[in-house]
Amino acid sequence: MCPQQSVDTTNTDGAAAVTPGSNESTVNIELLRTGSVSIDRALAYEEVTNHPMPETGWFRPAEKREWVPVSAYLLEHPTGVVLVDTGWHRDVRTDERGHLGRLLGSMHETNLPAGEAVDEQLAARDLAPEELVAVVITHLHPDHVSGLDHVREAPRVLVSEPELAAAGGRFSLARVLSGHMWAGVDLEPFGFEETGVGPRGRSHDLFGDGSVHLVWVPGHADGQVAVLARTDEGVVLLASDAAYGAPSLEDGRPPGAVTDRTAAVESLAWVREVADSDECVAVVANHDPAVVPGFVGRTSWADSGPSANGGRLPDGEQL
Ligand SMILES: [Zn+2]
Repeated sequence: MCPQQSVDTTNTDGAAAVTPGSNESTVNIELLRTGSVSIDRALAYEEVTNHPMPETGWFRPAEKREWVPVSAYLLEHPTGVVLVDTGWHRDVRTDERGHLGRLLGSMHETNLPAGEAVDEQLAARDLAPEELVAVVITHLHPDHVSGLDHVREAPRVLVSEPELAAAGGRFSLARVLSGHMWAGVDLEPFGFEETGVGPRGRSHDLFGDGSVHLVWVPGHADGQVAVLARTDEGVVLLASDAAYGAPSLEDGRPPGAVTDRTAAVESLAWVREVADSDECVAVVANHDPAVVPGFVGRTSWADSGPSANGGRLPDGEQL
């Protein structure tokens, strides 16, 4: 097992290569904390109970609740910077119920300290949203898209085809809960290629050089992606909510909130397989309280940072 932000080289029978190709392009990965959320633990980790919907937290004891971080990520590639997920909107500071809506607001509380909103963090790095190469949304759940409004000037906002298709469905809970958060934003679908990467063998090579794969990990959400990236130190997997926290990785406990439980179990099994591979230096579960903001998979960050401008993705227009 290679825990978050640490290196384990003791595994000798790890899985085969988790990224295809021999290209040695790498990225730098910075973990951001974009607020936190209070959840019922049954949302994060499946629980055997007679309660019909324990993940909502409704009529559940207070000791079942827990505050967990909401993570977002910056991927720094030689061609520019990609933001992954967006955390909470600043509106939660002043009008939480208004921003979340009644249904979502009945399940969660939020916290977004000054400086943790995604646009505030970009500004602190002298990055304007329009200077990003793209924003990638791992799945359309509220804690991942709430802050999208702050970066809507980004040239491209990428969401997987199955995630967008599911959000358009009649019974899409994601749309009911968070549709207002991406309203008016031009979400650009991307498809998966047959790469052999991931539980379904399908992923999208983001920069076209093998450095970053957006890996299809359905189950918690139909089109959820994890980010499998090659850094100078080795492979890093940003698992999104395919692994919610340490109990997912250590005990293999699937999330309680799923659209397809079987798929969620398979996706988590793949995440754990990556964690056990020799190449892996870190697996980051989005909501693990142990996540520490900062760079991961890189020992020194001082020399040549990538330019924030002029980036392009392989299937996109030159910026
Ligand atoms: Zn989440």
